[in-house]
Amino acid sequence: MKRLAILGSTGSIGQSTLSIVEQFPERYAVAALACGRNLNEAFVQAARWRPKVASMATEELADRLVARLRDAGVTGIEVVHGTQGTVACSTLPEADFVVSAIVGVAGLEATHAAILAGKPVGLANKECMVAAGEILTQAAHEHKVPILPIDSEHNAVHQCLRVGTHAEIKTIWLTASGGPFRQTPLEQFASITPEQALKHPTWVMGRRITIDSATMLNKGLEIIEACRLFDVRPSQVRVTVHPQSTVHSLVEYVDGSILAQISVTDMRLPILYALAYPERPASNLTFDLAALRHLDFEEPDFERFPCLRLAFEAAEKGGAHCIALNAADEVAVEAFLERRIPFTGIPRTIEEVLASTPEVHPATIAEVLATDQEARQSARALLT
Ligand code: MG
Repeated sequence: MKRLAILGSTGSIGQSTLSIVEQFPERYAVAALACGRNLNEAFVQAARWRPKVASMATEELADRLVARLRDAGVTGIEVVHGTQGTVACSTLPEADFVVSAIVGVAGLEATHAAILAGKPVGLANKECMVAAGEILTQAAHEHKVPILPIDSEHNAVHQCLRVGTHAEIKTIWLTASGGPFRQTPLEQFASITPEQALKHPTWVMGRRITIDSATMLNKGLEIIEACRLFDVRPSQVRVTVHPQSTVHSLVEYVDGSILAQISVTDMRLPILYALAYPERPASNLTFDLAALRHLDFEEPDFERFPCLRLAFEAAEKGGAHCIALNAADEVAVEAFLERRIPFTGIPRTIEEVLASTPEVHPATIAEVLATDQEARQSARALLT
C-alpha cells in the first residue's frame, strides 16, 4: 500500500490522481492533501478521503475548512496552511510518495523538501524542473530518490528510455499538438482573444497551461524539463508537431532506432505509471489501435511561435534565464487573460525580461525564489 501526499489535489492532475486511488484502493491511500484555494472541493476531498493532514493556501481558508469539517462531523484531520502547510504535507512521515501537481513555483519548496525527506516524487509540476531543475535533480541523486515525470511527454520519454542507456540517446523528440493556432496565419496572431486561446484541441487543462500550449511556451518549458530530468543537452532535444497527440513522445537512439509511446490522451495513464513504477498494473485505459488512421509529424514554426526559440536559448544559458522565462510568462499570460496585452505581447514580454536577466545560477531554493520574484517585477514593470 502506497500512501500518497497530493500537492495540488483540487487541480486537474490532483483530481485525476484521486480517481486512480479510487480505482486501485488495494494499492493506494491518501495521507495528505494540499488543496490551495478551492474551499468547496477541499471540503469534499477531505471528507471523502480523510487524510491525516490537509493544507489550504491561507490561514483564513484553513479556518473555514476546519469549521466546515466540524459542522459535518468529520474529525481527525489536521488542517494547516501556506507554504509551511504544503511542506508539512510533502514531508509527512506517513506519506510514501508525493504527487507534485501545484501549478507554478508555489510547489517548489514542498517538492524540494519531499526529496530531502527521501520521498519518491511524481512530478506534474514542470515549473519546478524549469526553475530549479539543477538543484532538484542533484538532491534526488544524493538522496537516491526517483523523480517520475507525470507530464505526458516526459512520461513517454521515461518509458522509451527503459530500453536503452544514457550514452545511446541521440535525440529526445517531444511531441506538441501545436495548439489551436497551428494553422493560423502569422498576421492574425496579434488579434487572438483569450476565448480563442483557451480552446485547446486535444487536452483539457488549467488556464495558464492552456495559454502556454497556444503560444507553445509550454513546449518550451518541456524542453528545459527534459534537459534536467534526463540529463541531456538542449541540442539533444527536438520538438515535432503531432496534431493527433497520439504519440506522446519519442526517443531516437544512436543506432537509428526510434521508440515511441502511444496511449489514450488521458492523464490518468501517466499518473498511474508514475505511482506504480516499476510495475505496470492492469487498467481500463485502452487505446483503440484499429481506429488509428494516420499520424502526422511537422516541423514547428519558430516564427509564429517565438516562445520555442526563447526556451531553447534559456535552456542553453540555464539558471536565472530558465527561471525568468517561466516567471515572465506567468505574468504575461495573466495580463493577456485580463486583456491588457495582445497574444503577441506574451513572447515580447518574455524576450524583454530575458534580455535584462543576468547569467547567474542560483544555488538554493531561496535564491531561485528571489530570482523568480525579480523576473516577475521586471515583467510587471514592463507591462505598466
Ligand atoms: Mg506536457
